[in-house]
Amino acid sequence: MSIQSSAAPKPKVERLPPLPPQETVYRRIRKRVHVACVLAFVAAPFSNLMRFDVPRQRFYFAGVELWISEFAIIFFAIMLLMFIIAASAIIHGRIYCSYACPQMIFSEWSQSVEAWAKRMALKVLKTASPSFRKAAAAAVFYGVLLLASVFLAFVFTAYFIEPRDLLGRLLRLDVATVGGITGATVTLITFLDFTIVRQKFCTTVCPYGYIQGMLQDQHTLLVSYQDGKGENRDCIDCKKCVRVCEMGIDIRDSAFQIECVHCGDCIDACEDILRKVGKPGLIHYTWGDQPKAVVREPWYMRWGFRDAKRVGVLLILAFYLTGLALALSLRRPVLVEINPDRSIMFRVLEDGRIANLIRLKLANRTGKPVQVRLWVEGLPGADLALPVNPVALQPGETFERTVELRAPMGDDGQDVHHIRILAQSNAARSSDAEELTFITPLKRK
Ligand code: SF4
Ligand code: SF4
Repeated sequence: MSIQSSAAPKPKVERLPPLPPQETVYRRIRKRVHVACVLAFVAAPFSNLMRFDVPRQRFYFAGVELWISEFAIIFFAIMLLMFIIAASAIIHGRIYCSYACPQMIFSEWSQSVEAWAKRMALKVLKTASPSFRKAAAAAVFYGVLLLASVFLAFVFTAYFIEPRDLLGRLLRLDVATVGGITGATVTLITFLDFTIVRQKFCTTVCPYGYIQGMLQDQHTLLVSYQDGKGENRDCIDCKKCVRVCEMGIDIRDSAFQIECVHCGDCIDACEDILRKVGKPGLIHYTWGDQPKAVVREPWYMRWGFRDAKRVGVLLILAFYLTGLALALSLRRPVLVEINPDRSIMFRVLEDGRIANLIRLKLANRTGKPVQVRLWVEGLPGADLALPVNPVALQPGETFERTVELRAPMGDDGQDVHHIRILAQSNAARSSDAEELTFITPLKRK
C-alpha cells in the first residue's frame, strides 16, 4: 500500500526584511529621567531647593528661607506644585508615575538589585548548592536594601528636619527623641516597601491613580494597542508586551486600565518583536485612544495642548507662576513692623519731653548677620529709646520690643503730629517707612 500525502503544499511565506532599529526606546529615556529625578530628590533638602524645617517652622524654596508667616509665597508655591501635578494628570496621564515617582523609581531599582544579586551568586558560587546560592543572593539583596533604606530615609527625613541635626541623631543611633524615632520608622517603612510592596503600592494604596481616573478626558495621553481586525491583524500573540508589564496587565484588553502607569515598556517590547519581522509595533503613546497621528503636528499639539481646557490649564499655571515670582520679588530680607501702642496716649517725662509708645518688630530672614538703623522724620529732636541703634540681628533672630519715642513739646499748637519712622538694614537696598502719629498734650493758652 502506497502512502499518499494528503497535506497540501505549504504556501510560500514572504518575510519582509527587518526594519531599522526603533528610534525611540522609551525605557532608555525613562532610565535617564530616573537618574535626573534621583539626583534632584537627593540634592533638594541639602541645597535648600525645597525643604520644610518643622522644628524651626521655616520653608525653603529655591534656596530662599521663608518664614511660616510669609503666607503669600508659601500659598503660591504650594498651589503651583499642586496645579503642575493636576495639569500633568489631565494632559499627560500617569507619565509622572512611571517617569518621576520615587516609589516607581526605587521599586524598579530594588528589582534590578535583586536580579543582580542572583546573577552574582550564580557566577561566584558556581560549585555551591542551589539553596546556598539562594541564601547568599538573599543576604546580599537585603544587605544592600538595608543600607539604601537608611540613606533614602535619611534624605526623606531631611526634607523636614535640618540635615546636620539629623546626621548627628543618626550617628548617635538616637531612637529616643521624636527626630530619631521618625528616622528609624521611615527607615523600616522604606525597607519593607522596597523589599516587599514595590509596585503593588501603585495599584492598591496610591490615590494618584484614582485621581488620575477622574481627571483624564478624551485627549489625555494614553498607551494604546492599535491593530487591524481578522485577517488584517498583525499581532503574533507572542505576549512579550504582557511579560514585560510590571503592573501585570495586558494592554491589548483596553487602553483605559487603571493599573497602567504609561511606562511604555510594552511599546518597546512590541516594537522589538515586530521589527524583526519587518513590521512596526502595534502599541503607541496616543492622545486619547485615537490612532497615532500620521502627519507631524504643531508643537503645542505634540505637547498635549489640544483644546481650550488645556489652554486654560496653561493660563492658570502661568498665573500661579507669576504670583510666586511677584511674591518672591516683593519679599523683604529683613521684616520691619512698626505700630503705635495706644495703651497710653502719651507720657510727660521729667525733663518736659513727651513720650509715645511704639511697638517694634525686626526679624532677620537672611542667612547672615544684619544691622538695622532706625530714625524719625517729621518730628524735630525726636529719638527712639533703643538700647543700641543700629540693632544687630543674627540670622533668623527676631527683635520684638515696645519702646518710647521721645520728642520735645512743640510750639505749633498741634496735639497730633504726622511723622515717619524709617528702618534701613544693610541687607536691603531701600528703607522701610511707617507713617504714624505722635500725640502730645494741647498747650493751654
Ligand atoms: S501596559 Fe504597558 S505602559 Fe501600561 S504599565 Fe504595562 S508595560 Fe507599562
Ligand atoms: S508584543 Fe506585540 S505582537 Fe506580541 S502579543 Fe504584544 S501586541 Fe502582539
